[in-house]
Amino acid sequence: MGSVEGIALRKKPNLTLVLPDDQAGTANIETPPREDSMTIRVAVLGATGTVGQRFIQLLDGHPWFTLAALVGSERSAGRTYAEATRWVLDTPMPAAVGRMSILPDDADLDTPLVFSALPSKTAGAIEQRLARAGHIVCSNASDHRADPDVPLLIPEVNPEHLELIAVQRARRGWSGAIVTNPNCTATGPTMLLRPLHDSFGINKLLLMSMQALSGAGYPGVPSYDAIDNVIPYIGGEEPKVESEPCKMLGQFRNGQIDPAPIAISAHCNRVPVLEGHLECLSIGFTKRPPLDELVATLRNFRALPQELGLPSAPAQPIIVRDEPDRPQSRRDRDAGRGMSTSVGRIRPCALLDYKLVCLSHNTIRGAAGGSLLNAELMYAQGMLHTG
Ligand code: NAP
Repeated sequence: MGSVEGIALRKKPNLTLVLPDDQAGTANIETPPREDSMTIRVAVLGATGTVGQRFIQLLDGHPWFTLAALVGSERSAGRTYAEATRWVLDTPMPAAVGRMSILPDDADLDTPLVFSALPSKTAGAIEQRLARAGHIVCSNASDHRADPDVPLLIPEVNPEHLELIAVQRARRGWSGAIVTNPNCTATGPTMLLRPLHDSFGINKLLLMSMQALSGAGYPGVPSYDAIDNVIPYIGGEEPKVESEPCKMLGQFRNGQIDPAPIAISAHCNRVPVLEGHLECLSIGFTKRPPLDELVATLRNFRALPQELGLPSAPAQPIIVRDEPDRPQSRRDRDAGRGMSTSVGRIRPCALLDYKLVCLSHNTIRGAAGGSLLNAELMYAQGMLHTG
């Protein structure tokens, strides 16, 4: 046993990672979902959608988790996954998953772990019902992210916030738990802010996003609006991007999170890119570091998921690019199987201290992959059981 900021950590479970490092979700499509005593049975809510499909892809061949149930809306319940789903990913739909029947959203599930890719507003009540029934719910929806007793988690950033689960259970009287991952546009910047805030202290952040179409779900933005265009408004996005990093960078004290005192101003834009949110950041520090120290701090960042060797953890959570024109959405979004944040163009800023460009894959690290890593961390810490 080791410990990180007060949390007891188990050693890595003795299971083998089967996905090679340079691919995501390209496992053998004829392999049926495995069920054995070593794996945790999982359900995916909203399985037919953009994020739901990523879950199906990333769970295919997962060493610790076995897909056992799919949940959809009234439109899909009772149909097979293949019948109900307009599959949009480049890897084939796993054949065995295509034959599974979709359950309605009020079904009783027998899976200890539930991944939620439900739309916001729909998600809240369904996730609470499942947590009350004893399930661990790892959610992508925004409904519970700001709840003071719900962890908003990036395993490299704030693993100690899982201690909120005890607070949540005591307050709500349930045996399950809701754990959320952040808005996809908040994810990349927060990954960078963690080591920089720890080393130098950050007090201001100006952020301008160029967000992919897949961030709007499927079918998302009509093609007539998206092609040959940039849309300088994404409903509800900016307040989330301005508040969620402060919760994640906050300190867990006396059963609650004290948010980090960072003033964040965000401009969010939709651009005609399929996947990957590119963001331009200007950062103000309490004490301006030398440029080389800032770059080295980003380049050398490793955290608990890397130490534990979690299956979905990238070897490098932050990849610093030295070329003048990187990162780029299409060329760099799949770095670290879509789980690394790429950063480049790090240079002085005339308004704040430094400015840079960062890129994070919105449906992998910013959604399904992030949620999966949260669950892997909980498993490695002994919070998930096969029963
Ligand atoms: P989406 O493509 O619109 O998919 C949502 C799915 O939810 C639909 O396919 C629908 O399935 C299902 N659904 C709707 N009502 C339901 C109900 N009552 N019960 C069960 N299933 C229901 O949206 P998405 O992009 O995957 O987003 C899913 C969630 O992840 C949202 O909360 C979103 O904010 C969040 N998120 C998305 C991204 C991203 O990059 N897209 C990133 C981070 C977080 P049917 O086919 O069964 O009707």
